[in-house]
Amino acid sequence: MGSVRFVTFGCKANQYDTQVLREALVRRGWSEESKDADLVVMNTCTVTAEAGRKARQLARRIHRDTPETKICMVGCLAESEPEVLRELPGVEWVLTGGEAKRPINFLRELGEELSPEELGIPYGITEFHGHTRAFLKIQDGCDMACSYCIIPKVRGKSRSRSIEELRNEVTRLVQVGHVEIVLCGIHIGHWGRDLGMEFAQLVRALAETQVHDDQGRALEFRLRLSSIEATEVTRDLSTLMNDLPHRIAPHLHMPLQSGADEVLVGMNRWYTGNEYLERCLALRELLEEPAFSTDVIVGFPGEEERHFEDSLRILSSGGFSKVHVFPFSARPGTASAEASGMVPSQVMRDRRMRLGELSNELGEAFLRRLEGKTESVVPEGTAGLSGRYQRVRFDLQNWVGVLPKLVDVRLEIEEREEGPRLVGRPLEGSPLASTSANSASSPALATN
Ligand code: SF4
Repeated sequence: MGSVRFVTFGCKANQYDTQVLREALVRRGWSEESKDADLVVMNTCTVTAEAGRKARQLARRIHRDTPETKICMVGCLAESEPEVLRELPGVEWVLTGGEAKRPINFLRELGEELSPEELGIPYGITEFHGHTRAFLKIQDGCDMACSYCIIPKVRGKSRSRSIEELRNEVTRLVQVGHVEIVLCGIHIGHWGRDLGMEFAQLVRALAETQVHDDQGRALEFRLRLSSIEATEVTRDLSTLMNDLPHRIAPHLHMPLQSGADEVLVGMNRWYTGNEYLERCLALRELLEEPAFSTDVIVGFPGEEERHFEDSLRILSSGGFSKVHVFPFSARPGTASAEASGMVPSQVMRDRRMRLGELSNELGEAFLRRLEGKTESVVPEGTAGLSGRYQRVRFDLQNWVGVLPKLVDVRLEIEEREEGPRLVGRPLEGSPLASTSANSASSPALATN
């Protein structure tokens, strides 16, 4: 045993995998340190060449600063470039073939002697270290083959966790105080395909789970879906979101990637720009002011100005709250790395800037549409995150006492020179609303 530090690159699924490994080591008596640990476990990402470069650079720095530290590499970069990582000074282990995903295998690789009890450890986590919100990985892998993406090669086909295992994990996480559970994975809309089930069935089962504390009191929580393909937001799923707005956050992150059909074909995506937009508009009809965010790749090989304008048109019509813009980066080992028609970097920069400006405009318009609405917010200090994934500030003069972990507020807009922001006010008649008498006696705001 000794001390260990964890470093995670990349997506929510990776952060979840790190927590699985953290719990395995801590359970065996390792102590976690933020620096100068005996062992550094790096959970790596390979989605862009830049992500790989950062991980290699950090490994070199750790070895230079503390040469006695042993480094263990796991994750997507370890799967895709094991030989390169093995050559790095200080790297003792590069775990591949999915062996690090199961804590038992991981511990064996580190030379830990395992007791029979340890062999019975269920897959999963008991808390989400250091966070109010917890990530819950529901599946791994992807069955698709987008031409720019290396992930299916390193993570394999989609594998789903069982409903029972996931319900137990939601119960555990809520009981230790997490009030928002974010369903994540590599391709969450494909959860259940290998089990002959639909993603909406899982969401219903988790949303209907009743969790109680040890005194038998019901505990509040909400689910949030992380990135999901627009084509996989089925009627069943959207109906469920409409029926249970307090249990399922009205926020969908649906990657568009491009609004131009020719570019989508080159990307090996499976929908047209208009099909994507129609799905957004249909959801907008059904749900009350949902928040839509999206990802767009600019400068995909062959993207011309007219293609880019198709993306602008779809984004402007869909009422998005946020657009994440990614300049195309040729990932070795993917089909599009070999594609012709590379877009000059100046053009890419220009398109990125124009999309950034559009995202800001759309974000502000969305904020203004929320004025006067009631939303539940997870407070973190003097601000919090709303169901529609917006930062909401609490004005201390309007609140008293100890806020619950999930609190309903009325949203107002505060105008500032830098732009508007949302302020959360107590609902009318709430015991948490300040009056001149009680604000004098309880000026502090805290969350329990
Ligand atoms: S859907 Fe496409 S982009 Fe997403 S993980 Fe699968 S291959 Fe990659």
